[in-house]
Amino acid sequence: MSENGKLPASELAPIAQGQLRIDAAAAWNALNVESRRRGLELVPTGSMSSYRTYSQQVYLWEEYQAGRGALAAVPGTSNHGWGTAVDTPDQRHWSMIEQIGAPYGYSKAWSDAPSEPWHVVYQPGHYTGPDPGPYGIPAIPELPEDTVSLFVILNKDGRVEVFVEQSDGEVWHAWQKSAGGAFEGAQTGVRNATWFTLGTPGK
Ligand SMILES: [Zn+2]
Repeated sequence: MSENGKLPASELAPIAQGQLRIDAAAAWNALNVESRRRGLELVPTGSMSSYRTYSQQVYLWEEYQAGRGALAAVPGTSNHGWGTAVDTPDQRHWSMIEQIGAPYGYSKAWSDAPSEPWHVVYQPGHYTGPDPGPYGIPAIPELPEDTVSLFVILNKDGRVEVFVEQSDGEVWHAWQKSAGGAFEGAQTGVRNATWFTLGTPGK
């Protein structure tokens, strides 16, 4: 049985600039996809604002007790320690979450701290889709170091042609016929001079 603030890595998943319990992270990441579409990248306020370790909670609790910090839950009782709460930095975040968060399980309607507008708690059962990951889209693969340009043509007959010019001047060329499921032809070792004279490959 996992303890508050001591969740093993296997029970956590990344969100943009933080981590949450796996199901809470999936829903948060999906919410963030929709939020990004509307122009806002949702991020936690700081490094202790999504999943929070027990020792971080002790630190915040002591700051609160000393009159230096905001209200903090007794160590071992915070929803942050279960990886199901997120604090966000500003009104834009709070409005966005109120507007579109509920179908993903995030809403002030079921907050355990209604007086804290920045604190939102995950409620399971609303979002059941996949985790799109912290960036919401597949990572763009890195091009090889010697790749200097990429050129793609879509022909009227449905052929897709790809040209890659390397730093040494070599052009790599491949094409795919509209009917084929895979690239059906390729040409390498073509120099710059022939860039526009490759003609109609793949006939
Ligand atoms: Zn909080």
